[in-house]
Amino acid sequence: MKGCIFCNISEREIMAENELAVAFYDKYPVNEGHTLIITKRHVETLFEADLDELAAINRLIFDVKRLLDERYGPDGYNVGVNVGEAAGQTIFHLHYHVIPRYLGDVANPRGGIRRVKKSIIPYWAEGEKGGGRAP
Ligand code: AMP
Ligand code: ZN
Repeated sequence: MKGCIFCNISEREIMAENELAVAFYDKYPVNEGHTLIITKRHVETLFEADLDELAAINRLIFDVKRLLDERYGPDGYNVGVNVGEAAGQTIFHLHYHVIPRYLGDVANPRGGIRRVKKSIIPYWAEGEKGGGRAP
């Protein structure tokens, strides 16, 4: 789609692809190797994608994981999708985040993507009730 950043990713940025999905590095990585996987077709969110596209994304997640394992040797991954403005989505072309994780990259990784709750439930904030720890 004209004007969509992810519809206009340049060939040289592409890390891996298949018939329906493309992977490239996030421009503002939250960790070394942070990668995005998108549909080739412009769809705004996860729920507008069709099952073939989701299968293609899943296959690419496995390919990207192999590449990232070779390049960075992470100890784990967070894989996830923000769906809608309320959930924090800022670019409205479906993208999966594949975020390599390294032991010690944060002091207490417990909770992983569940830690989004900290931003929903104020009393989970660091230093307050629960000490910022996910259950
Ligand atoms: P979200 O908040 O889930 O919509 O994520 C959007 C992601 O796109 C963020 O992680 C950004 O760092 C990333 N991003 C923004 N612009 C670009 C770009 N031109 N190329 C690659 N990644 C980008
Ligand atoms: Zn697009």
